[in-house]
Amino acid sequence: MTQHAPVVPVTLDLREFRRAPRSTDECLALWERLEPAVLTLDPLAGPRVRFDLGDEGEVGVWFLDPATAPRPLGAATRFAIRGVLEPPEIRHACTTCRAARTTTYAPYKCPGCDEGQRMGRVCEAHAVFLDGSLRASCPSHTPACRCGTKAVAWCGGPNCRTRKAWCETHLRRHPGDPTVAYCEDCYAERFPACEHERCTGSGYIRCEHRTLSAMKPCGRRICTEHARRWQVYGSYNRGLALCTPHHQQLSSTSPEGLIDMILAGTVARSGRGRSATRRRVQLPRISIVRHILINTRRTVLDMEAIDRLFTTLEQGLSGRTPRDTNLSTALDLLAGHRASRHEDIERFREQHVEGRGHYDRLLQELRRGGRHELASAVEFSDFRPRSRILFVRVPEHLQGVFRGKGGSSVRQLEQRVGVKIQVERG
Ligand SMILES: [Zn+2]
Ligand SMILES: [Zn+2]
Ligand SMILES: [Zn+2]
Ligand SMILES: [Zn+2]
Ligand SMILES: [Zn+2]
Ligand SMILES: [Zn+2]
Repeated sequence: MTQHAPVVPVTLDLREFRRAPRSTDECLALWERLEPAVLTLDPLAGPRVRFDLGDEGEVGVWFLDPATAPRPLGAATRFAIRGVLEPPEIRHACTTCRAARTTTYAPYKCPGCDEGQRMGRVCEAHAVFLDGSLRASCPSHTPACRCGTKAVAWCGGPNCRTRKAWCETHLRRHPGDPTVAYCEDCYAERFPACEHERCTGSGYIRCEHRTLSAMKPCGRRICTEHARRWQVYGSYNRGLALCTPHHQQLSSTSPEGLIDMILAGTVARSGRGRSATRRRVQLPRISIVRHILINTRRTVLDMEAIDRLFTTLEQGLSGRTPRDTNLSTALDLLAGHRASRHEDIERFREQHVEGRGHYDRLLQELRRGGRHELASAVEFSDFRPRSRILFVRVPEHLQGVFRGKGGSSVRQLEQRVGVKIQVERG
């Protein structure tokens, strides 16, 4: 009995095979390579079998009807390829892989791989990422530093804003945090050097020195340690930050010049972050200005004289044109300052009378103790009735004698006179 050799229907799974056949002949040629191995199989034992073809990938053979297949398969067995499973068409293929005649899905774009109409792509394996950005490129289009070397990181600094990449030599890493790296210029901007010689601190503070005729501040960068605060708003408010040269200049600046600087600094501060909830910065009261003048340049002026400095400044400014925002703010500040100046003059007069009384008793005490040199050198400065402090000026070379050992002489005088006694600084 002759038996018709049955046809064994199969499907080829070519989804993992890199050299997918492009024609019937190529498909047959592939089958002929596989057939000797297929004939050794038992379809019932495993209806789906995979063949490893090395670099070319894998091919799967699926027996569609294992029960009807002859056992064992033999040279006479005829096969029918009923279907072919092919890899999905890869729309985004890696440009680098394609040059090596393979097709790989490429999730990233490489701006350097120009494919005419659209930007080239790069696969997971070929993608190069530099620190500082998620932008990819293929190995041959890795960004170069300005010096020509391959870059290692994008600079996220204020100038580059991750648009420029730099090599390790031209990057500057933050000493405290090596993951933070900028190019030289951006680093200098982010971590400005302190103007103080040999200081390694970051100059986060800018010198606020400015005048009404030159409102652009000095701007020199200073670290917190080297910044000098000119306490013009009383001891509890942040004073104007000054660089060393400008701080040193204070003592030789005229009272008019100092008041100009205070006004200019206050104009600049009141223009910043103006909002309904934020209290506007005010000029310091003249009772404070009086102490500022004493401390910075050892000039003792009475309240009327200081009031005149402000009035003269206001008159000079009111005639100035054009009236820009800064000038208007300055005039507003001066106008708002007037009432407090009159209060301070009035109070100063009253205190003066009371203070003079304490001062006279102080002189009497000194003379009674035979300290005549001190009695003729100590000058009255101010009296604060609320805190009951008498401020006096004592020539520097006599201050030690006046205070006595551990302040004992002053304490004795305080007991006798009945008020606290403080020597004016400077
Ligand atoms: Zn690739
Ligand atoms: Zn590329
Ligand atoms: Zn940069
Ligand atoms: Zn470089
Ligand atoms: Zn410093
Ligand atoms: Zn300065």
